[in-house]
Amino acid sequence: MYKYDPKSLIADEFINDAEVRETLAYAEANKNNFELIDAILEKARPGNLTLSEHGTALTHREASVLLACEDPERVQRLFEIAEEIKQAYYGNRIVLFAPLYLSNYCVNGCLYCPYHAKNKTIPRKKLTQEEIRQEVIALQDMGHKRLAIEAGEDPVNNPIEYILECIDTIYSVHHKNGDIRRVNVNIAATTVENYRKLKEAGIGTYILFQETYHKESYLHLHPTGPKHDYNYHTEAMDRAMEGGIDDVGLGVLFGLEMYKYEFAALVMHAEHLEAVHGVGPHTISVPRVKKADDIDPDEFDGGIDDETFEKIIACIRLAVPYTGMIISTRENAAVREKALKMGISQISGGSRTSVGGYTEEIRPTDTEQFDVSDQRTLDEVIRWLMEQDHMPSLCTACYRAGRTGERFMSFCKSGQILNYCHPNALMTLAEYLTDYASPETKEIGWKLIEKELEKIPSDNTRRLCAEHIEAIRTTNQRDFRF
Ligand code: SAM
Repeated sequence: MYKYDPKSLIADEFINDAEVRETLAYAEANKNNFELIDAILEKARPGNLTLSEHGTALTHREASVLLACEDPERVQRLFEIAEEIKQAYYGNRIVLFAPLYLSNYCVNGCLYCPYHAKNKTIPRKKLTQEEIRQEVIALQDMGHKRLAIEAGEDPVNNPIEYILECIDTIYSVHHKNGDIRRVNVNIAATTVENYRKLKEAGIGTYILFQETYHKESYLHLHPTGPKHDYNYHTEAMDRAMEGGIDDVGLGVLFGLEMYKYEFAALVMHAEHLEAVHGVGPHTISVPRVKKADDIDPDEFDGGIDDETFEKIIACIRLAVPYTGMIISTRENAAVREKALKMGISQISGGSRTSVGGYTEEIRPTDTEQFDVSDQRTLDEVIRWLMEQDHMPSLCTACYRAGRTGERFMSFCKSGQILNYCHPNALMTLAEYLTDYASPETKEIGWKLIEKELEKIPSDNTRRLCAEHIEAIRTTNQRDFRF
């Protein structure tokens, strides 16, 4: 019998099944305990924030009580507080990125993913370095500066050397005024040695979705291949941290299992990282299972409606207010619009989820990993964000200035991030407007920049930021940052 221990390095102990079940029972028993719920909500408000023993604002038990609560008035308060937290810690900035699919060769048998080894209908494709160059040029021409690279797991076709070579290629492309300044990596769980190599290659965040924390379901959903090993997969972030990567991104593939179980375990994972490494997850992603080549999302038990999805996002926002939250184009514009208010800080835009998709005129679907719901261009997404008073940011400054892991978190916790991120966001938006935007987007964008410049508190920073923006507008100088 395993015992719950957030400091343990054994998956069954830090994501302890008995503790998750007790948490769910506790949440169910207290879902109408309004005195407790009001106290938890109050505790999570930005002004009252103190961090728990394991670095989260709410413990997994407290956060699970909020998720279980169905009282409409309190659910509304939950949404309002999520919005307050978003504004207090992130302001109105939304960071943009795009996924880049390198290869769909895969030896795993994941039941929800069309790249699974037994799928004989999907064409298999792996980009050559020249093809990557072309994809990166297309992404730079859209205005992207930050990518998340994606690949199936295949030690023969996609070994770590291939991934490292791709990262080098991506960073080496400088087309017109474009460059990719941050490459995040979403590849299968690997060894400490390989994580060290990724760190040396200059990656930003290492992202690995847990898919499901429920061990029995996990084993069923991953029947074959190296990904079948639940413990190896669940303990991956500890190995990544041991390999020197201190920005790691968690995620659950919502729709596979009971969302309340996943949520409690996800917060426990964040507590574990903080307890062992002194730094929680850099980001949490909230993907939902989508239709794909031979995949029907209705075949899974855990499907959640949009309202439950929003509630999960709000509860994550309250539990871990300093962790970035990512939503992809798996979701349509209407869902993304609401989710942004609840505390999402990063979104993808103009995405293509097929291998080699960016160099095609028309979005190809044959090698797609999942159906893209939000099919707008990056320019349309950027304009849409601004129309709703968000500030699109293509900033990549923090990790390049060494603000990662604990350093980033302390920076964030002391409220300093706003003094740096805000002007950096303005300068990267100015680059976008100058180099890539449509006339309509330019018009809204320059007005927004003028208004947002006024919000920079320090006279000196405001003056410098305005000077840099002028240089971006009138010369080829780029990549200014505070
Ligand atoms: N192969 C790596 C792994 O196993 O972690 C890399 C990640 S894969 C390219 C990216 C993620 O897409 C997976 O972790 C999974 O959560 C998600 N995914 C797979 N099939 C999906 C589907 N049908 N709908 C939505 N997301 C899906």
